Amino acid sequence: MTRSANLGFPRVGLHRELKKAQESYWKGDIDAAALHAVAKDLRARHWKLQQDAGIEVIPSNDFAYYDHVLDTSVLVGAIPPRFADITDPDQLYFGMARGTAAAPAMEMTKWFDTNYHFIVPELHAGQTFALNAAKPLAHYNEAKALGIDTRPVIVGPITFLSLAKAKDEGLDTLDLIDQLIPVYADLLRQLAAAGAQWVQIDEPVLVLDLSDKQKSAFKKAYATLGKAGPKLLLTTYFGALLDNTELAATLPVAGLHIDLVRAPEQLDAVLAVLPGDKVLSVGVVDGRNIWRTNLDTAFSFVARAWDKLGPDRLEIAPSCSLLHSPVDLDGETNLDAELKSWLAFAKQKLNEIAALTLAQKQGRGAAKLAFDASAAAAAAHKASPRIHKAAVKARSAEAINLDRVSGFLARRDKQRARFNLPSYPTTTIGSFPQTKEVREARAAYKKGLLDAAGYDAFLEKETENTIRIQEEIGLDVLVHGEFERNDMVEYFGEQLDGFAFTKNGWVQSYGSRCVKPPVIFGDVSRPSAMTVRWSAFAASLTDRPMKGMLTGPVTILQWSFVRVDQPRSETCRQIGLAIRDEVVDLEKAGIGIIQIDEPALREGLPLRQRDWDAYLRWAVDCFRLSASGVEDDTQIHTHMCYAEFNDIMPAIAEMDADVISIETSRSAMELLEAFRDFKYPNEIGPGVWDIHSPRVPDQADMEVLMHKAAEGIPADQLWVNPDCGLKTRGWPEVKASLVNLVNAAKALRA
Ligand code: GLN
Ligand code: ZN
Repeated sequence: MTRSANLGFPRVGLHRELKKAQESYWKGDIDAAALHAVAKDLRARHWKLQQDAGIEVIPSNDFAYYDHVLDTSVLVGAIPPRFADITDPDQLYFGMARGTAAAPAMEMTKWFDTNYHFIVPELHAGQTFALNAAKPLAHYNEAKALGIDTRPVIVGPITFLSLAKAKDEGLDTLDLIDQLIPVYADLLRQLAAAGAQWVQIDEPVLVLDLSDKQKSAFKKAYATLGKAGPKLLLTTYFGALLDNTELAATLPVAGLHIDLVRAPEQLDAVLAVLPGDKVLSVGVVDGRNIWRTNLDTAFSFVARAWDKLGPDRLEIAPSCSLLHSPVDLDGETNLDAELKSWLAFAKQKLNEIAALTLAQKQGRGAAKLAFDASAAAAAAHKASPRIHKAAVKARSAEAINLDRVSGFLARRDKQRARFNLPSYPTTTIGSFPQTKEVREARAAYKKGLLDAAGYDAFLEKETENTIRIQEEIGLDVLVHGEFERNDMVEYFGEQLDGFAFTKNGWVQSYGSRCVKPPVIFGDVSRPSAMTVRWSAFAASLTDRPMKGMLTGPVTILQWSFVRVDQPRSETCRQIGLAIRDEVVDLEKAGIGIIQIDEPALREGLPLRQRDWDAYLRWAVDCFRLSASGVEDDTQIHTHMCYAEFNDIMPAIAEMDADVISIETSRSAMELLEAFRDFKYPNEIGPGVWDIHSPRVPDQADMEVLMHKAAEGIPADQLWVNPDCGLKTRGWPEVKASLVNLVNAAKALRA
């Protein structure tokens, strides 16, 4: 019989219970036993919730105290030597994640193209592995004691090795496969011995461009693991298998999961090559977005698969683990009923899977209520004037010239004449410390304890104070400090039409950190100016140039839940038009320098290289759309962080910002080689102060970095600035660092 299945459930809890327990434990307010009790409670609640929703195949070991890739490092005994002497398992685990007094934390990076960050495994030449199966076994048994026979989830060996970092020169982590296979085989045997009939083994790297070496590693590993004991469901998600279809379909395992939300077109290709005895798990409910599933559409995939496979070979599942969606829509009292009728969080998604499974087993009539409601919501959505705004669509369809009036060199002359800045001009990236006072004032205002006038006066005082400090220190281009902003995306989303905000729509970003992405549900437009009030106020207080500060369209898109009824590029264009209007309004208000931040441009890159150009085309165009409405003598800046630019330099140059500031200090200016080799034509501010560290950089250090920059890039193209906003830093270190930064610039000029 067809089975309803889940691949993973969000861990943190509806009210972020795990976050609170973790943080109390880290502070020493509770002990490990108390933390474990909270976690055990969450697991039980989530298993029960899945069971109540009608899910037949429920995962275990999807729960992680920090991250599932970190769990895998511990599972296979890949403990970096600097942590080797920590004997307490909790201290070891969190030490690896967060660092200890003696040892820096392991690195963290994004899990494929999600906003979830995993802890990067570290492997050494001569690395050995040793199984530590305590956690998957304990969690399997824990669920069993509750009467739920789960399917344990593990990260597969090829994904693990592919994501790991080789800590020794010349080591290819894939070469460790022979050492790793026996550990996995042993784990599978132990899970089988405990009673697990199936194990879900996640190999999302199968949707990436794979090397021949990775492909043979797959064959080698699964030749052994397929025989180790339990039946294996090989899970792929976040994209299409494409050229890896045959490989994935024919590995000697009992089942394959494919993502039919991201890649619906792959169903036929997979069905064509799937061997006659294999189970197919069809991921037809979006595991990483929040829209209600159109059950009729999803069911058409189920029906096609069932036609080909017949009974006993089909599972119906989310596209990927529900880790990336919020827990429950029911508690969202801030959203109106109509909007809610278009959404589904993890719990609702499980109900959808159950309805699809029921319809498959007993016919659509058996799940009539769910199907009818889904169809009604889809029809209402299609016709809703809240979503579809003729004026926005008409404007977006207009051809708009994306070029500035003149080329960069002509603009530069006019800007130099206008601003008359010294060489090596100094500036900051926008935000200044969001102190406890700032956060408290905002909270009081939101709670109604501080009225609008009082809050406004507070913000004016903070802004003015920040301007005086910048003047005193002697910065050349000032900013207002962004005290009125809680978050660089939310601030804009709250003022744009087409956005909604949830109360509890938390998604884990890393460890105990969760984010609550805005929901872009409809056509986006800007009812009125968003930042002019603060930029104009700030400009009125000083004779120095004041930089207006905006978040760019690609970043707003990237850090939101985005509608799926139109291409992302179209939604981005609508945001780009709204930002364009804001840029023009700032110019009209006399703001001559405007920064449009795009820290997330790089992370939007598709997983497959063949899709890069198309993405970069529209992403760069949306930025240009937002920036090109101004006169030549208005100077456009952009800012990017966490970026490896080397492979996307042409796209960065095409953005044609007059000035780009970039995070470089952590890579010791390596990044600048990309700009130098490419002969980046416009001006650049390489970040000379790593604001992620509390350390106050010396003037001399910053000079060294700038000299290094000047080796490859003409000095008259260079700016001096920190590598990101200062909102997480404290005032004393900010002042001291900026004094050093300005002195470094002065020394460079001399
Ligand atoms: N202007 C923003 C700030 O200064 C930029 C933040 C970012 O790059 N992430 O905070
Ligand atoms: Zn930044």
